[in-house]
Amino acid sequence: MSPEGRRKLRNYGVAPPEDADATEDGLTPDAHALCPHCGSSDTRLLSEFGSTACKALFQCQACRETFDYFKKI
Ligand SMILES: [Zn+2]
Repeated sequence: MSPEGRRKLRNYGVAPPEDADATEDGLTPDAHALCPHCGSSDTRLLSEFGSTACKALFQCQACRETFDYFKKI
């Protein structure tokens, strides 16, 4: 994914794949995606599946916002 693509995703409030510790098999249980709203890494995985199967749902502990994380496909 290009830097421009990542920037666009963050503007939509979605964390791009590069913003979390993911393996080939997906997210690690203690993965912390960077919050697209405030940039904090103090986030937790709420659900492996967000609004679509290719996204996971995170909540930021710093700003309390929930956000989608775009998984690697
Ligand atoms: Zn945040």
